[in-house]
Amino acid sequence: MPNLARLAEASLDRHGDYPALCFEGAWHTSGEGHERATRIAGGLRAAGVRPSDRVAVVMANCPEVSQVYEAVWRAGAVVTPVVFLVTADELRHVLRDSGAVAVVTSPELVPKFGDLCRELGVPAIVVGTPSFDALLAADPIPVVDRDPGELAALLYTGGTTGRSKGVALSHANLAHAGRVSREAAHTPGLNTGITALPLSHSYGLMVTVGAMQAAEPPVAVLQRWFEPAGWLRLAAQQRAQTAAVVPSMIVMLLGQPLAEHDLSALRFVFSGAAPLPPAAAAAFERLVPSARVLEGYGCTETGGIVSGSPLDAPRRGTVGRPLEGIEVRLGDDGEILVRGPNVMRGYWGARDSGVTGGWFATGDIGAIDGDGYLSIIDRKKDLIIRGGFNVYPRDVEDALTAHPAVAMAAVVGRPDERLGEEVVAFVSLTAPGAATADELDAYAREHLAPTKRPREIRVLDQIPLTSVGKLNRKALRTLI
Ligand code: ATP
Repeated sequence: MPNLARLAEASLDRHGDYPALCFEGAWHTSGEGHERATRIAGGLRAAGVRPSDRVAVVMANCPEVSQVYEAVWRAGAVVTPVVFLVTADELRHVLRDSGAVAVVTSPELVPKFGDLCRELGVPAIVVGTPSFDALLAADPIPVVDRDPGELAALLYTGGTTGRSKGVALSHANLAHAGRVSREAAHTPGLNTGITALPLSHSYGLMVTVGAMQAAEPPVAVLQRWFEPAGWLRLAAQQRAQTAAVVPSMIVMLLGQPLAEHDLSALRFVFSGAAPLPPAAAAAFERLVPSARVLEGYGCTETGGIVSGSPLDAPRRGTVGRPLEGIEVRLGDDGEILVRGPNVMRGYWGARDSGVTGGWFATGDIGAIDGDGYLSIIDRKKDLIIRGGFNVYPRDVEDALTAHPAVAMAAVVGRPDERLGEEVVAFVSLTAPGAATADELDAYAREHLAPTKRPREIRVLDQIPLTSVGKLNRKALRTLI
């Protein structure tokens, strides 16, 4: 597999031209998407994009996102996908660090990023305007072949752990991650998947490359960004059979009148990117009895995937087993180490490649049971050490979300003179006033060992989330 763009061609050869993508009420065919990609590739080349150049893609979900990815790869260049919710400062860092030669974006983002592009002298190509139409008007170009180990994508980490770093993923990395994740999620006849996850995150990128390698013609129902009521309408209307989500989406869906929508076609909901509160998964399955919520685990550095729950033998509370060709072992301190064809080449421009002897240290603490199922205990850096006892925020969060009035819980450590750190919990409620902090405190006393009990429980209207819907502990730490 010399270039991911070849996978897109092979997919078209295999499945032919068919309605492959539903977006905002319109259907787009696989042939049309591919044809546009070949022209965009020609347009990029005419605009001066050379092989190995980085092209930033900063857009909410729309059909053009995957067309531009295919086009950039076709031209032998590298995509730098950026979640559109970033701030101009964050984008400045990405554009400078990656040395991007162009930014493909959408009109609604021009007020936010236009000045920045001008300041840095990076041309902005805006979908739906003459700058993008000029790409589409170009003559198609053939695929520029690359070595499998060459760079295909440069993705910036969330930066919740410090300065955002560029994760260098090769064509081979993404092809493997996409293929094995797709195969692990495949059931004959279940081809219609709904996604509102940003295609510009490693999870979305992996899903995109996975679709290019699907055994049966994949049909994507795409939402511009996640909005729970619209998601439910779409899933019901299009009879979605599978869904890709992050846990906070499940929590938000639970706040909707689920029973009013016919989700009987929905069989598998794949959750990843953050811990899935068991209570939320169970509640969703109760309300949508046709569906099973299955958990997977991955990081940007591993092309978005490490492990997934076997469809026929999931184990609640685990993130399944390592997928094909991917090895997992635990370091001395329980840290999850990963090796395989999906593991990144390294961090962009960094002396420390982040990979030792092929093993990437994830920063997550895990456990592996006798049958090879992996559980994520917590992130190493989120561990709270309270009076010498280890407190994993996740244990406390799972206990609090089991309370019927709690929608979401987030736990952080607060520096404390006596104990080193204290446990502080933030919760959002299923309805305003559904419980008081005192009631939750009493509940915590009943369900948590004294060492883990939050010193303080604070009720917030909303728990701050990152641009991909994860708990934003950095924002929470500013509140303690
Ligand atoms: P940052 O770079 O700011 O640290 P990030 O770590 O969230 O951002 P990603 O690569 O997007 O960067 O996310 C990978 C991390 O997400 C994993 O290391 C793990 O901590 C967490 N994660 C992914 N899947 C799961 C899961 N199923 N359960 C628990 N945590 C998960």
